[in-house]
Amino acid sequence: MSGRLCVGCHLSTAGGYAHMGRTAVGLDATTFSFFTRNPRGGNAKALDPDDVAELRATMRAHDFGRLVAHAPYTLNLCSATPATVEFARRAMAEDLARMESLPGNYYNFHPGSHVKQGADRGIELICEGLNQVLEPGQATVVLLETMAGKGSEVGRTFEELAHIIDGVQHDELLGVCLDTCHVSDGGYDVAADLDGVLAEFDRVIGLDRLRALHLNDSKNPVGSRKDRHEKLGQGHLGWDCFGAIVRHPFLRTLPMILETPNELDGYAAEIAQLRMLAGEDVQPAAESAPSSVGGTAQACAKKGDA
Ligand SMILES: [Zn+2]
Ligand SMILES: [Zn+2]
Repeated sequence: MSGRLCVGCHLSTAGGYAHMGRTAVGLDATTFSFFTRNPRGGNAKALDPDDVAELRATMRAHDFGRLVAHAPYTLNLCSATPATVEFARRAMAEDLARMESLPGNYYNFHPGSHVKQGADRGIELICEGLNQVLEPGQATVVLLETMAGKGSEVGRTFEELAHIIDGVQHDELLGVCLDTCHVSDGGYDVAADLDGVLAEFDRVIGLDRLRALHLNDSKNPVGSRKDRHEKLGQGHLGWDCFGAIVRHPFLRTLPMILETPNELDGYAAEIAQLRMLAGEDVQPAAESAPSSVGGTAQACAKKGDA
């Protein structure tokens, strides 16, 4: 693979797929994430083959890594309401069928909230759903996202994620997406002990399951179970944590998605800073971006040098 980080941010699908690709290139991103459907809307639009073909050409031309599509937050495979479970299964199956026209990428989802049924019943329902939805030979690997443990969320602990994987027949189609804000809020201190957290992940789940990262700082201290994302370097994780991640020999090979509270210029600055921390020559992309981008990047570089 190329030596550059595969890093990008969450983008709006409003302008179509090719448009997301062009936006990503403008941010010096080499991956991105997007919602596979409107969280509130029922039906998802069919993909326009020309639009998808243009995105795929952009990805090839600019050496993109895998994309990390995101299922809507509202899907809940382990709801206590059967109709909600049924909708989640149908929506996931449809999303995965549509992603066959964009093969070789990831589909990330929140395992769900068990709403008073207990984590064991939640895990059972999630496994049932995945066993129904996953098609052997499909071109998309489905990622379970590590959760903060807000409310009755399943997937806060590595043990819960391991139990889900154990209960799925076609587990070759499953991986994990580690969200730095969520794991920290969930009680894993990635800021103070990144290697320790990875060792624990390896012991419980196996590091080969780790396929993508959501890079978010956290507004709250470790163990808070809040799930409030913060801009990189402005929360409880700090730039040292993200620097360690982009220099880590294994983590630096994974797609990294920013879901920080930013507009596009803020994302461009964070991507540039991550590339700098990884030791890359950062292209003067900042010149074409609003002036605040260069300012932020310089301020961060100074801090990093000190
Ligand atoms: Zn998520
Ligand atoms: Zn996330």
